[in-house]
Amino acid sequence: MSGPVAAEDARPGEADCGQPDEPEVEVTPSRHADVGGVAVRRALPRRTRRTVGAWCFADHFGPAPAPPGMAIGPHPHTGLHTVTWLVEGVLLHRDSLGSEQPIRPGQLNLMTAGHGVAHAEETPGREPSRQHGIQLWVAQPEGTRHGPPAFEHHAELPVVGLGAARITVLVGALAGAASPARADTALLGAEIATGGGTVPLPLDPAFEHALVVLDGTLAVGDSAVRPGALAYLGRGREAVDLTAAGPVRALLLGGEPFAERIVMGWNFVARSREEIDRAAADWNAGDEERFGPVASALARIPAPPPRP
Ligand code: MN
Repeated sequence: MSGPVAAEDARPGEADCGQPDEPEVEVTPSRHADVGGVAVRRALPRRTRRTVGAWCFADHFGPAPAPPGMAIGPHPHTGLHTVTWLVEGVLLHRDSLGSEQPIRPGQLNLMTAGHGVAHAEETPGREPSRQHGIQLWVAQPEGTRHGPPAFEHHAELPVVGLGAARITVLVGALAGAASPARADTALLGAEIATGGGTVPLPLDPAFEHALVVLDGTLAVGDSAVRPGALAYLGRGREAVDLTAAGPVRALLLGGEPFAERIVMGWNFVARSREEIDRAAADWNAGDEERFGPVASALARIPAPPPRP
């Protein structure tokens, strides 16, 4: 999956970092978008909620029948990590570092863009499975965002039982389990899966947190959270109790509020509109020193023209 971030999601020059808030539950509806022919629910960014920690983008796709599947041709990224997590199906990732990696449910793909990377993602041939998952972006801080690209695949991640839930830690640490995945800022990403019951989650009060429900309905205080929404929990919480009347799968996102003012445009995270325009021009000029070629049969996706 990939963006792009549209005008209604990213106000040029106004993409603030989200203000840290007191404990609360703020439920923001996702925006329905279309990425490469696949319907997605965009939980982040929203006008009223730009970031949660360094998490700056969240596209929940499916569940949908695979045919014709996803076919997202080579496109560039800068200044962010892409984090791909599947509930059902298989996706094949190819990038300009030479990586060629299928990803399946329970595994993590984490690509670091830095100064520039390109990749393609598609449903591999002869895979009859359905597609259901989420792609997230993490904004890189000033210290690493101009650096080299990188790619990690984690076939196994730490899993811990907590109350009625099975928790998989994608990034950061939760309930004593720490992920081996790269994080350039203090960050948390974890999947919560339960057949029903109460999940007592310990939280870091220095972090802000949010939930994206992928399946089922999760109760947080008086709020019922379903797919198609982001439930922002604020910061300053030592713990939160989640309650499920039936099967639920959700992602917990958290982190220290991102201190830098970011600007998002198309598939880029930067600090100014000029940086976005330069990255788009470099991609459209075929700058292989910056973005590199991707060994994919799919058509390269051109960057849209700069906004007036
Ligand atoms: Mn992408």
